[in-house]
Amino acid sequence: MKYVSTRGDAPELAFDDVLLVGLATDGGLYVPAEWPQFSPAEFEAMADLSYAEIAFRVIRPFVGGTIADDALKAMIKETYAGFGHDAVAPLKQIGTNEWLMELFHGPTLAFKDFALQLVGRMFDHVLAARGERVTIIGATSGDTGSAAIEACRDRDNIDVYILFPEGRVSEVQQRQMTTVDAAGIHAIAVDGTFDDCQDLVKAMFNDSQFRSAHNLSAVNSINWARVLIQIVYYVVAAVRLGAPRRAVSFAVPTGNFGNVLAGWAAWKCGLTVDRLVVGTNSNDILFRFFETGEMKIAGVEPTLSPSMDIQVSSNFERLLFDMLDGDGAAVREWLADFRETGAMLVDDRRLSKARGKFDAARLDDDGIRWVIRNVFENTGELLDPHSAIGVDVARKCRGDNAVPIVSLATAHPAKFPDAVEAATGIRPPLPSRMADLFDRVETFDTLANDAAALQDFIRRTAGGKDAAKVGT
Ligand SMILES: *Cc1c(COP(=O)(O)O)cnc(C)c1O
Repeated sequence: MKYVSTRGDAPELAFDDVLLVGLATDGGLYVPAEWPQFSPAEFEAMADLSYAEIAFRVIRPFVGGTIADDALKAMIKETYAGFGHDAVAPLKQIGTNEWLMELFHGPTLAFKDFALQLVGRMFDHVLAARGERVTIIGATSGDTGSAAIEACRDRDNIDVYILFPEGRVSEVQQRQMTTVDAAGIHAIAVDGTFDDCQDLVKAMFNDSQFRSAHNLSAVNSINWARVLIQIVYYVVAAVRLGAPRRAVSFAVPTGNFGNVLAGWAAWKCGLTVDRLVVGTNSNDILFRFFETGEMKIAGVEPTLSPSMDIQVSSNFERLLFDMLDGDGAAVREWLADFRETGAMLVDDRRLSKARGKFDAARLDDDGIRWVIRNVFENTGELLDPHSAIGVDVARKCRGDNAVPIVSLATAHPAKFPDAVEAATGIRPPLPSRMADLFDRVETFDTLANDAAALQDFIRRTAGGKDAAKVGT
């Protein structure tokens, strides 16, 4: 099992190397050279298995023997045993042939836990076997940082530095990052904006001496392993609802295009996926693309669904590679053009190829409030603002009513309590296992928006040197 870069100019790698490098050396993203195929009989045999058992069967061919079966199985089992619901990703019916898959029962209450909890374990396993360590650096506007911290706590071979803009993340999000008191975990409040945090991370990666001295790595959503692990819940939902006998559609609140791409990957592997509906908020570059074939940059405005407030979706490159028939040189040209002009136009033939599987729709903040209230009144379910977008676009793009459609609920309503309360009058409580979040002690460091100060801080604290930690 080999992986190739979408830009066609980086070495082919096996899974363990793809996991650790994240981004290919040519700036591209790794994709399987060939998609593993599952037969209808193999899907049928999954219908009665547990989430973890299905996960092992789906992930195993992609790992291609680079992690031993026993170790992989044990990591998967441990990962999903840590989720707060016995079904791991429960399906709830909210209408005729209309379902919600709750992907928010992980430790940080957002779907990113599904992949990151296992990616953290895979990193540690591969690093231990090689006798290496890494330093993970990331910037967050909320969900990713807490999911990465929870995923890497108590991992022997990983130091984590997560930068967040001071005073600009929600209180739940901040506390999920700052109340994890574990060796090697560093939540850093930066005196600046999210963009400043991202620029600091880039500065660390661009300093090649510093980068190699600390073996810097990232677990952002371009890492193939994250997409791979997300394929599992599409398979679980589909086989529970009658696949492969029956096709199933999905609606996905989309930002970086990583989640919905996993649904497309499931289809590439033989799953009977009918439609994939891409939901955007008013930052609607993807919606406009699927409408017109033109990808055109516009400014980003803050919305009630901050995890989808994105200018350019990094994982879209993997779909572009497929639309361009796997021609890496063509991807390079298209992207260079896009960077230069802020726009790219995909011709009709290629657009229809993508539209063969994808639909798209958008919802603004007023619509989000309306959907949260409507679904609550009709079903008693509380949706977070991101999940509300999924439910709405599922309804807007509903094709054949006989085909079940599953909306992915990507965050727990208690993660965005203000929006939910404004729409329904009900303030959703945190699940009991984290009800004490606001009583826990916060530990974090505060740094100026200054690359030299950050480098100095990392030098003093990396490699398990937590004695040097300067607490706040
Ligand atoms: C990250 C996130 C999204 C967007 O997912 P992508 O994979 O980036 O498309 C949607 N909803 C929530 C709650 C998220 O945290």
